Amino acid sequence: MSSVADNLARVRERVAKACASAGRPESSVTLVAVSKLKPAALIREAYAAGQRDFGENYAQELRDKAEELKDLDGLRWHAIGSLQTNKVKYVARVAHAFHALERLDVARELSKRREGTAPLPCYVELNLGGEDTKHGLTPDALASFLSQVRELPNLQVVGLMALPPPTDDVARMREGFARLRELARSHALTALSMGTTHDFEQAILEGATVVRVGTAIFGERA
Ligand SMILES: *Cc1c(COP(=O)(O)O)cnc(C)c1O
Repeated sequence: MSSVADNLARVRERVAKACASAGRPESSVTLVAVSKLKPAALIREAYAAGQRDFGENYAQELRDKAEELKDLDGLRWHAIGSLQTNKVKYVARVAHAFHALERLDVARELSKRREGTAPLPCYVELNLGGEDTKHGLTPDALASFLSQVRELPNLQVVGLMALPPPTDDVARMREGFARLRELARSHALTALSMGTTHDFEQAILEGATVVRVGTAIFGERA
């Protein structure tokens, strides 16, 4: 087994265990393998091991990898990084889902660029820690943002996404994820994109429907 296949098997096992502890079916969690800054060859290894969902942060890197890997049938690209309007076209063309919606101008441009195709599933990114350096809306801006985005014909807001402040305190991890779940529920959203290498098990215990795992699958990034 390649090390990527090995790592994937281990991550899948941990996902399965967390699902079992949470009393949830494994099929209720999608594992997105975050391949940003990693070569296409490693994505091929993961694909050969059965992985189909991949996450990329940078629009041009996504565009280039999608082109390079277009022979891989059924591969689904998740755009997980914040986006500027001038790069929207790359995401609109190839993405299966967008996880970092936080700007109305980007939402409008995305919807425009998706005309004639199926609506793009989107997650609104929230900044739960209130950190300046992080992307995402504050929870009190969510209601008005959602009502405006819901007017756009070619986007479908399915859920919320967050990248909570890093902590080793499990109770604090759980708190952040639970908060995202409650916010989603109060806005009638069912999907939750939360949890990375550091905390995906805790995220699953709090209801994540998508976990975004990079390092545990592809190794440390340069
Ligand atoms: C890089 C990244 C991940 C994956 O992080 P790891 O710690 O490598 O698992 C998940 N989500 C977002 C938004 C990222 O930028």
